[in-house]
Amino acid sequence: MKNGAIVFGNVSIDGCGNKEYRVVTHAHADHYKHILTSSKNAKKIIATPETFAILDGLGIVVPYNKRYELSTGRKIELNDMVSIEFLKSEHIPGSVSTVLTANEMTVGYTGDFKFEGTEVISKPDILIIDATYGSPNHIRSWTNMDVLNEILALYNESENRVWLYGYYGKIQGVLLKLRELGFNEPVVMTSKMYRITRNLSKIIPDGFGEYFLLGTREAKDLLRSKVLVMDHATSFYRYRNTRIGMHILLNGWEFRKPVVQVDQKSFIASYSDHSDYLGTLRYVEESKPKMVVVDSSRSEYAGFFAYIVRRKLGIDAIAMPL
Ligand SMILES: [Zn+2]
Repeated sequence: MKNGAIVFGNVSIDGCGNKEYRVVTHAHADHYKHILTSSKNAKKIIATPETFAILDGLGIVVPYNKRYELSTGRKIELNDMVSIEFLKSEHIPGSVSTVLTANEMTVGYTGDFKFEGTEVISKPDILIIDATYGSPNHIRSWTNMDVLNEILALYNESENRVWLYGYYGKIQGVLLKLRELGFNEPVVMTSKMYRITRNLSKIIPDGFGEYFLLGTREAKDLLRSKVLVMDHATSFYRYRNTRIGMHILLNGWEFRKPVVQVDQKSFIASYSDHSDYLGTLRYVEESKPKMVVVDSSRSEYAGFFAYIVRRKLGIDAIAMPL
């Protein structure tokens, strides 16, 4: 639909399609939009426990009687008509791709994804794909782990606090990966970041390590020496000239090199939770769908990417909505 909703049978995904069931693939604004309208009209809102946890942290509270928590890897029959399955998608905590089956027809929607770590929807009749980076100009020759290692090197070099800026959900995914890389110092977070992390901690109890809310006594104590502070992406431009310390923005639209220095104490890190152009193409190749629909409501490169799928892979492909 023009508003970005993907509708099939009595299900509407990532947009309001006035259907009995509303699916939210992950807690990013362009995917949970109109959720409160859907909450009024739909029988159930279907999302992973992590997605509801992030939404609660953002203050977007879906009524409890409307929630249907479906964990990654699980499948439900909505009625005689449609079954729905969530597959693991590497993007932010709780992200899934969705497989809908009805009358022996299968429609898969990738949602937002990073190819590495995502379970590919196998041989659907129709594959609806996100192509945020749908142009050959969008290629990264480094991995997110390379970028995180450079961020850790900057942190180690810094003598003062280091601010890390990113979107809600993305920051929590980054913190989980930094912990996996062995970064075990406590971190400080601004209020919404903290609330989201705290809610996710109930589902992912061990992953986040120690974290504290900015402004509390513990955080003030930590800020006396070097510490990593996590804040929303928009604060990078607002506060980097006035806040003490080093500033690092996570930005997937940076394609020059893993970390670009902007001024003496500011950096842009090319960390993305979306596939680049090559990863998006590889997804289609591995999925082997009969037909591809490229989501043009969330990518301006959808039409071009559909052309590439037809031309390079010989698979019927169109961009929708038109
Ligand atoms: Zn997203």
